[in-house]
Amino acid sequence: MILKRLYTSIKNAVFPPRCMACRRLFTRMEHAIGHGCNTEDTGADSFRKLMAPFVCDDCLPQFTAIESPVCPKCGMMFRERVSDDHLCGECLTGVRHVDYARAIGVYDRSLMHAIRAFKYKGRTQLARPLGRMLFELYGRCYGRGGDLRTPPDLIMPVPLHRRRFRERGFNQAYLMIKEWPGLMTTGHAWDSHVVRDGMIRKRRTKPQAGLDKKRRKENIRGAFAVSADTDVKGKHVLLVDDVYTTGATAEECARVLRASGASVVDILTVARTL
Ligand SMILES: [Zn+2]
Ligand SMILES: [Zn+2]
Repeated sequence: MILKRLYTSIKNAVFPPRCMACRRLFTRMEHAIGHGCNTEDTGADSFRKLMAPFVCDDCLPQFTAIESPVCPKCGMMFRERVSDDHLCGECLTGVRHVDYARAIGVYDRSLMHAIRAFKYKGRTQLARPLGRMLFELYGRCYGRGGDLRTPPDLIMPVPLHRRRFRERGFNQAYLMIKEWPGLMTTGHAWDSHVVRDGMIRKRRTKPQAGLDKKRRKENIRGAFAVSADTDVKGKHVLLVDDVYTTGATAEECARVLRASGASVVDILTVARTL
């Protein structure tokens, strides 16, 4: 432990880390990312604790947690902060293939910068803290003392098209849940299984960024399939992704999963737009 601290302080003095959010050099002892899940932690606690080795002191508080009042179904956070959780207009009136969506924080400020650094600049060292934050959210949603929702049978990353995968070199959603099976066995007896290639992206789509809600829906329609060797019949499936924007991607995945017989489809993301 002492040797590791010494090594870290020498390394930081010679190669000071850059903040993943603002890119400034900063000095910080690296905190070891421990095991065991703390479902008492809020999203903001998780962010401070797990992102401290990567984000400077100025940027660490630049995080907005998703907190009640939210829509109990799609997880949308209401701007009006003084009411209880209640269904949003769209969940009241529209067809939803996703039963339950939750996210840790708002897609803005430090969380947005960190996700962009991870996804577009190949800072894959962020997969671990972001994945742990997601795992803690998973614990709050499905574990003891959380929302007490029945744990899912299968956990799948939202897939990338194989060409996008080759360009990027990794699927950010899968990198975040890769270590979950190990975390589950250390503290939980949940019988959920991570399936890396449960879904495939059969059609390459234009980036969703910059498209409005209707165009996003059209753009993504028919892009996904359940892989031939995955049986989702009667299963409760949990999808995992980095960001939830309009929900078009999640809805399309859920539509396809349900057409293949999935009974319930949930999604957890690190961030969502307001
Ligand atoms: Zn910073
Ligand atoms: Zn809703």
